[in-house]
Amino acid sequence: MQNIYQHLEAQKEEMYAYLEEIVNKESPSHDKELVDELGSWLAKTYEKLTGGTTTIIPDDVYGNHIRGEWGSGESQILILGHFDTIWPKGTINKRPFKVENGKAVGPGVFDMKGGIIQGLFALKALKELNIPLNKKIVFLFDSDEEIGNPSSRELIEKEAAKSDYVFVLEPGMTEKGSLKTSRKGVGIFNVEATGLPAHAGIDPEKGVSAIHELALQILDIEGLNDFKTGTTFNVGKISGGTGSNVIPEKASAEIDLRAKTQVEFERAIETMLNLKPKLPGSNIKVTGGANRGPLERTEEVISLFKTARHLAKKYILMDLTEKETGGGSDGNLTAPLAPTLDGLGAVGDGAHAHHEYLILSEMPKRSALLAMLLATYGN
Ligand SMILES: [Zn+2]
Repeated sequence: MQNIYQHLEAQKEEMYAYLEEIVNKESPSHDKELVDELGSWLAKTYEKLTGGTTTIIPDDVYGNHIRGEWGSGESQILILGHFDTIWPKGTINKRPFKVENGKAVGPGVFDMKGGIIQGLFALKALKELNIPLNKKIVFLFDSDEEIGNPSSRELIEKEAAKSDYVFVLEPGMTEKGSLKTSRKGVGIFNVEATGLPAHAGIDPEKGVSAIHELALQILDIEGLNDFKTGTTFNVGKISGGTGSNVIPEKASAEIDLRAKTQVEFERAIETMLNLKPKLPGSNIKVTGGANRGPLERTEEVISLFKTARHLAKKYILMDLTEKETGGGSDGNLTAPLAPTLDGLGAVGDGAHAHHEYLILSEMPKRSALLAMLLATYGN
């Protein structure tokens, strides 16, 4: 344990070079060709650096996923890293990779290409230092996290169900790099109101306004917000009507739900699906439901965090903190299936924002932290 951090600190320049290389390979979620190019590079680099093996899991529509294996054992630990980014092709020309004042910038550097490089070097260190594990490590690189895992969800859930623990290399929070021990569940709904169309001038009393109905529903939905428990509803998009002189027949709204616990999450979904029409003669139809369940701060998650904090303090002289977030990740998918520790990746700020950056000096530290967690829980 003692020498893992020093070992990685001595390799930091090599780590930074790989970071530059991975950021220069753009990978917007919907660009299969580019994502696949990075996937092939990842598979090769994984084998070269860690000595492990990889399988390419093909997909017709989205990017191929890469499944790395390392070591052997009856049981397994899962590491997750998505390699797609939200940045469209060509962003690299507008915001090229560069280092300034110890910070690296470039599309996806923080979310989450830095975390992937740290993960590769963690396994590399375990190999080079001959630290044996009794468990097999499965390192899954998924290509579609930023668009809600349309193709990798099943794969991730299948691997998580077989794993004793899951470590997610999403970035940490704030410049302290806090781990994410609680992530809200995400629900997505569509509420469609139907009324009765009529001429606004000739027969106004004969119509039933779908927009009026929807407006009443929206007031109710907004009223469900509970910032104390963290259960929130956002009516994020509305549409409806055909013109000012027609009493509208159709109107609809898209709603985003967030909740911290499974119990709250299910209760809120139930409430949404049971909305009732308010105006005589109108109708509403609610569709949708859970998108990703919550990553709850369970006893097991707390225990994983405490171990990480202890290792960081003892061997890296680093004060590790924890935080909760409303944003979802691959960790939401694995949390119901295996104890999951998220936010172990890069330290920096600005995920999905133009000022995205990564603090380089944190890379060997975070990489060492992951290696030590694997050495602890892998035995
Ligand atoms: Zn991410």
